[in-house]
Amino acid sequence: MNDFIKTIPEGVKLVAVSKTHSCEIIQQAYDSGLRIFGENKPQELVRKYRKLPKDIEWHFVGHLQTNKIKYIAPFVSLIHSVDSPKLLAEINKEAAKQNRIIKCLLQLHIAKEESKFGFTINDLQKYLSTKEFLQYAFVKIVGLMGIASFTSDEILIRNEFRTLGKLFDRLKETTFAGDLDFCELSMGMSNDYEIAISEGSTIIRIGSLIFGERDYSN
Ligand SMILES: *Cc1c(COP(=O)(O)O)cnc(C)c1O
Repeated sequence: MNDFIKTIPEGVKLVAVSKTHSCEIIQQAYDSGLRIFGENKPQELVRKYRKLPKDIEWHFVGHLQTNKIKYIAPFVSLIHSVDSPKLLAEINKEAAKQNRIIKCLLQLHIAKEESKFGFTINDLQKYLSTKEFLQYAFVKIVGLMGIASFTSDEILIRNEFRTLGKLFDRLKETTFAGDLDFCELSMGMSNDYEIAISEGSTIIRIGSLIFGERDYSN
């Protein structure tokens, strides 16, 4: 069923996006060898964290409201979806209360759709130039994340990933020069992960290809 997993190049991490799926289903994926799971609702993530094996690395991949950070701050491994300066500041506060450093990716708005979250390239560059993020002792920015347009137009998808990849490379040489922790580029989902990998992705977030279609009705 998951033959595609064998085709993922070394150096590209797989996040199994398990949102809406039961702990039993996740446990099966765990038993088959997967260890990194992604969720997009704080309370759902906490419930699963409590029930499932403690060596799972839990990633948060959805839009995060500041008043919900506290639920996931004690254990989350990576927040992919930091889409505003305020959110980063609040994550820092909650991480400080837990006395742990939370790794974060800055989410860029690369898609045509209005509905998606994230910094524009301009806003991000303005924000980074303030160096405000350097004062946060409890968050570590380790890279960028983006979601491509939901379309069958592969050229558009490739262009969006390429734009993100170029920004990532530029930041590695400028703002984050010498910072070896700034090394992750989270892009690619079930429909477009192959394009994403060919454009330099280091983390792919795969839901339906692993777990099948999601049922939001329950
Ligand atoms: C749901 C989700 C995924 C996985 O989507 P699939 O198309 O099922 O692979 C990846 N990233 C984010 C941010 C998601 O919300």
